[in-house]
Amino acid sequence: MKYLIVLGDGMADEPLERLRGKTPLAAAHTPMLDALARKSEIGTVQTVPNGVPVGSDTANLSILGYPPERYYTGRAPLEALGLGVHMNKNDIVLRANLVTLRTEAAAFSQCVLLDHSANEISTDEAAILMDVIRGEFENSDISFHTGTGYRHLLCWHNGVLPVLAQPHDHLGEPIGAYLPQQPLLRELMYKSHVILDRHPVNQARQARGLHKANGLWFWGAGTPVQLPPFREQTGKRGVMVSATDLLHGIAAGIGLESVPVSGADGSLHTNFTGKAMAAVQALQEGADFAFVHLEAPDEMGHQGDAQRKMQAISSIDQQVIATVFRELDAAGEAFRLLVLPDHATPVRCRTHTRTPVPYLLYDSTRTEQHARQQYNEAQAQYGRYFPTGSALLAHFLQK
Ligand SMILES: [Zn+2]
Repeated sequence: MKYLIVLGDGMADEPLERLRGKTPLAAAHTPMLDALARKSEIGTVQTVPNGVPVGSDTANLSILGYPPERYYTGRAPLEALGLGVHMNKNDIVLRANLVTLRTEAAAFSQCVLLDHSANEISTDEAAILMDVIRGEFENSDISFHTGTGYRHLLCWHNGVLPVLAQPHDHLGEPIGAYLPQQPLLRELMYKSHVILDRHPVNQARQARGLHKANGLWFWGAGTPVQLPPFREQTGKRGVMVSATDLLHGIAAGIGLESVPVSGADGSLHTNFTGKAMAAVQALQEGADFAFVHLEAPDEMGHQGDAQRKMQAISSIDQQVIATVFRELDAAGEAFRLLVLPDHATPVRCRTHTRTPVPYLLYDSTRTEQHARQQYNEAQAQYGRYFPTGSALLAHFLQK
């Protein structure tokens, strides 16, 4: 038996008036999921428990069988694993987003946080800006590490664990109330804004009608993380297919091999088919378990764009799920396929919510038929409920 998880980040949502009371998942064109739903188990799972922040970090740990209340130390330490950043016991690692600040305000604290991703700046442009940051600020206490797109890291040696706000929770708000308490971090934010705002890369972005990447925003801080190997926990040898440093980090931490896919960038135009084929190939070459993570629905949720969120879900349906199904079916492989989001990112509120998410579990060796069943938030509520991601994973991997 082969086991495959296809995870649409932030895919779950709420009913929208402009979609005639449907959610993006229910309204999107998804012929493959529609067909699979009639032959699958549908239900809901509470991926993130109360008392733990809702994000892809905690939710994906949960789905992979690592209760976040026990294993989670922060988002940045997980990403640091993915970037191969060496951490000492007393280090603090922080996410450093390249963000867009609206700057006409008189004081820095009155700047408005416009965009947590600077229009999803490319890694190439971001790398130029991060080199400037590194040259300007790095010393024996701090180092910067360039990641993917707008997502970078700050390593603070012997630092103190700060309380920080997630940038995607405060879009459109003045930053004053959310600036860190630590003078070092405040100073880095202010000085980097002055330097980045006038950098030629940003002047050129502005000329092209794009948001400037004119600010650093620190969040997701944490201490080094310890995770037992996935194979020890489950007996399965697995691979990870994702474009994000976070998922690569979790994979590195639990011993899943990350399979690189060219053109996979976590965006709406990522190489969906390439990611599907990479998972199929890994399974056919001996892996028992593959986890395919698609970032696009989450980004569209944060942008509040229901149409493009539906487009992302449609691409996952036709380019990822249809591809893995066709290939595994043609190879005569017995497989179980679990489709789910990690958490909801409703376009209404443009941030993550803690509601249970809908899952679809298909088993190629079963012949169950549910003629009217569909995979969406409303119908899933009538199905089985799992109180934790670990419980769903155990159910998925049984037999
Ligand atoms: Zn998100």
